[in-house]
Amino acid sequence: MSEPMRETIYALSSGRPPAAIAVVRISGPGAGEALKALIGKIPAPRQAALVRIRRRDNETIDHAIALWFPGPHSETGEDVAELQLHGGRAVVAAVFAALSDLPGLRPAEAGEFTRRAFENGKLDLTAVEGLADLVMAETEGQRRLALRQMTGALGGRAEAWRAQLVQALALVEARIDFSDEADVPQDLVAPALQIARALEGEIVLALADGGRGERLREGLVVAIAGPPNAGKSTLLNRIAKREAAIVSPYAGTTRDIIEVHLDLGGLPVTVLDTAGIRETADPVEREGVTRARDRASAADLVLWVVDATSPLESQLSEIGAPSSAIWIVRNKIDLVQLVSGKNESLFQISRKNESYDRTNRPLTSMVNKELTRNNEFEFSRNERIFDISATTGDGFEALLTQLAKYAEGFLTGAESALVTRARHRKALEDTVSALRRALAPDLSAREDLLAEELRTAARSLARLTGRVDVEDILDVIFRDFCIGK
Ligand code: GDP
Repeated sequence: MSEPMRETIYALSSGRPPAAIAVVRISGPGAGEALKALIGKIPAPRQAALVRIRRRDNETIDHAIALWFPGPHSETGEDVAELQLHGGRAVVAAVFAALSDLPGLRPAEAGEFTRRAFENGKLDLTAVEGLADLVMAETEGQRRLALRQMTGALGGRAEAWRAQLVQALALVEARIDFSDEADVPQDLVAPALQIARALEGEIVLALADGGRGERLREGLVVAIAGPPNAGKSTLLNRIAKREAAIVSPYAGTTRDIIEVHLDLGGLPVTVLDTAGIRETADPVEREGVTRARDRASAADLVLWVVDATSPLESQLSEIGAPSSAIWIVRNKIDLVQLVSGKNESLFQISRKNESYDRTNRPLTSMVNKELTRNNEFEFSRNERIFDISATTGDGFEALLTQLAKYAEGFLTGAESALVTRARHRKALEDTVSALRRALAPDLSAREDLLAEELRTAARSLARLTGRVDVEDILDVIFRDFCIGK
């Protein structure tokens, strides 16, 4: 049974007009006809041609560059035409109007070009994800990670593993099929197990990355928290104003959380201000608050901001159970009175003493008293105490420098991580579980069960690259794509 003729899709693949140039892509069996209708010819494959785009009544819409990529050697695997127009709204609108007049053509849905590329075997699922990540990458680290994944770092590896599993499976199946025949080597199972054992080791190693790939892809999350009026919003504003570091400051989905995306030495750090998190009766807002709170409590690092002019103890009592590290930030240090008659603020003293934050025992033990009372967590030597003024900027650069170091410590080596999503981790963990069951001592005498476990392991890897069971995850993956991609 042959498939019904596919529709031909078109979309603006470049950014929103007005712009210098607008790129319109057309993919599908009607792409060639569309070119003939618009420019009167089909250019030589993969060669730029200067053309006039005309309406049906022969009026020239624009002078443009046209490119022709006949399938299957095109990005989607189908016939693809590309028009590089002048990027005005009316130009694009006129070209779209001309395209929509043609039979069998319709506007593309989000991610539809890539989806066709996937369906035509041009990309596996991990490469599709890498492509999505590349488009969304905000820092150098994220770009490198995405590019590696798009070009098969994970997909290629998973396919190689799967091929070895298939080989192991073939050995076990041969043993089952020909168990009675004298000239089949008796020991086919041992080499199969050897392959399984080696694979298990390799995959476990790939998984033992401390979640760095996921962290780098999503960005390290730092939450600013602390008692009211300590200066959390002022601190976030200062961070947001530091233009060199900023990627995209924007208010969250509700007014209850503000986040700032930073690029600290190529590494992505998302800073959340939890100042606005408060109870509300509005159900929509409440949902936002819950989400904000979940995000903040799952932060990799909490900056607990306190007011240096107020007694510390009461300001620490609200510290929640930390999911990971907490740094204490004593703010408003500009207001702290001169110490022992000298013209120095506490902050200046602390700056002179490099290890101030570690040797400030009374403060550390005070923090510890609160922390242990609340959640049996010890403020260890890895935690830090900073003195800053969010209004004057004193101590701010030092805090940011330590933040960058922290991110670096967290994300070092992350660019070469294979696993960048929970989906990958799950598939690889399933593979390892099946391999371990296959390697259990009591299974070596049961070739049928052994074969079944190897099949399960191979299937998990196939799921990772999208060879099988793809329907339920495709929509999730392509939902995040933009139109024209
Ligand atoms: P939040 O409730 O923790 O977000 O606190 P805000 O950022 O709204 O600050 C509360 C008040 O403290 C505001 O009036 C700020 O101008 C002031 N403030 C914040 N940081 C500093 C600082 O470093 N020095 C001084 N003198 N005032 C500050």
